[in-house]
Amino acid sequence: MNKYDCIVIGGGPAGLSGALTLGRARRKIVIFDNGTNRNRVTQESHGFLTRDGIKPQEFKNFALKGLETYPSISIFNETVIEINRDDQNDLFLVHTSNNKSYITEKILLSTGIQEEFSLSQIRQYYGKSLFSCPYCDGWELRDKPLAIIAENDEHINHMTKLVFNWSKDLIVFTNGYQLSNKLRNDFENKKIKVYTAVIKNLYGNHGNLESIELETGENILRSAGFVVPNFYRPNKFAKQLKCQVDENGGIITDGAGRTTANGIYIAGETKKAGPSSLMIAAADGNKAAFSINMDITLDRF
Ligand SMILES: Cc1cc2nc3c(=O)[nH]c(=O)nc-3n(C[C@H](O)[C@H](O)[C@H](O)COP(=O)(O)OP(=O)(O)OC[C@H]3O[C@@H](n4cnc5c(N)ncnc54)[C@H](O)[C@@H]3O)c2cc1C
Repeated sequence: MNKYDCIVIGGGPAGLSGALTLGRARRKIVIFDNGTNRNRVTQESHGFLTRDGIKPQEFKNFALKGLETYPSISIFNETVIEINRDDQNDLFLVHTSNNKSYITEKILLSTGIQEEFSLSQIRQYYGKSLFSCPYCDGWELRDKPLAIIAENDEHINHMTKLVFNWSKDLIVFTNGYQLSNKLRNDFENKKIKVYTAVIKNLYGNHGNLESIELETGENILRSAGFVVPNFYRPNKFAKQLKCQVDENGGIITDGAGRTTANGIYIAGETKKAGPSSLMIAAADGNKAAFSINMDITLDRF
């Protein structure tokens, strides 16, 4: 079996940027990716310097094309299902859904996160007219009649006040949650209406939101909006490999991608199990790759 210097699990901006740095450092690596990047549902990505407005797949294609220069990089469209540590040899065995196994010295975990919505209907609109990141999509929705769908004080407070920067025409939907009087007053002062009734359905065409129906029978017109999903890691690799976590569930690192588990590095959104951006994820992968390369260098020198 071939032995790799590093296996990169996840080919989003974090993993691909890490791979680029490792390839340029002449490391023999494999990237595994199964195409489940969470931004695949959206039409355009914004805010990445020099690539503002690019399609997510085009962004990925550019990144993959760039890696072709480096012969020590392999890319496999496979799902990693298990990772085992071989303590005796200081190596890892990585198993994929195609029943294949690979040996490596280091692992970069960059498998991203996924969203979970309390209302399943949101999926139909997510990435087309409902979004979770105002910095990513606020500009395109500026001055539109927007819905804010959020279900606790912290989320309602944060998202509504932030989005007010892009549109003053906001209506908050709490889907059954009774928000605090403090927030009610804040919003009344800015003429932001709040509906606390449970949401019955969302209506629209081809992912373009048109209205939100409440259990009270009211149907409120809104053409787009922002939601606050719950985010989670799509796998248990970090936990199984005994990477320590902090009180918020974030993987503890040294600030440069090294986890507390020897040989395991982490980059991108999976680190905190929370959302960030393409730019931040890419920078994170770059930083983790510096650490991986330095550790290999010192191990072998
Ligand atoms: C609707 C929407 C719009 C967005 N718009 C913007 C925007 O405009 N600008 C912006 O900066 N950011 C935007 N984002 C956020 C951006 O997509 C993320 O910040 C970024 O993709 C995080 O990068 P990552 O590398 O950490 O994870 P990801 O990009 O999610 O990549 C993780 C990769 O890991 C792979 N993977 C996971 N598990 C496995 C496994 N077991 N085996 C093999 N491969 C695996 C997946 O296939 C995926 O490709 C948006 C997100 C969404 C949902």
